[in-house]
Amino acid sequence: MYDMKALYQARSVEDAVALRLAHPEAQIIAGGSDVLVQMREGRRAGAELISIQGLDEIRGVSMDADGTLRIGSLTSFSHIARDPLIREHIPVLGEAVDQVGGPQIRNIGTIGGNTCNGVTSADSA
Ligand SMILES: Cc1cc2nc3c(=O)[nH]c(=O)nc-3n(C[C@H](O)[C@H](O)[C@H](O)COP(=O)(O)OP(=O)(O)OC[C@H]3O[C@@H](n4cnc5c(N)ncnc54)[C@H](O)[C@@H]3O)c2cc1C
Repeated sequence: MYDMKALYQARSVEDAVALRLAHPEAQIIAGGSDVLVQMREGRRAGAELISIQGLDEIRGVSMDADGTLRIGSLTSFSHIARDPLIREHIPVLGEAVDQVGGPQIRNIGTIGGNTCNGVTSADSA
């Protein structure tokens, strides 16, 4: 069903960078809601993938002491939509990502994937 050459599971951001250096043609995969659809359609045939799904260090929303709001690239749409910091400081972002696809897509789709896919229609962009 998926024409995949290899799947590497990153254990940390440093590990992901090392895997990318070792496999420069490999594609990062987060939630996979874009990448897996493209693979199923036959695009990216024979791709090597580096999964970052397990990297909790780049997941979540936080605020620094100086008021800087940080949104990890691996944070899902459903997380962002209900996060108290987002609701308080940038509710329009929570409202925008709550419009993406259906509940399943909002649970797996990440803001990093949505902005890195380069599609101008991306709701989080
Ligand atoms: C049925 C369906 C409905 C959808 N509806 C909408 C919609 O209404 N609005 C909308 O905006 N989108 C929609 N999408 C698109 C999709 O859900 C989003 O683009 C999603 O946010 C992608 O995130 P992901 O984690 O699944 O990315 P992936 O598929 O894992 O990756 C997408 C791209 O981003 C790159 N990438 C991912 N994370 C990183 C990272 N941390 N650093 C560097 N590169 C990275 C990958 O290499 C890849 O090129 C829909 C998709 C489906 C299948």
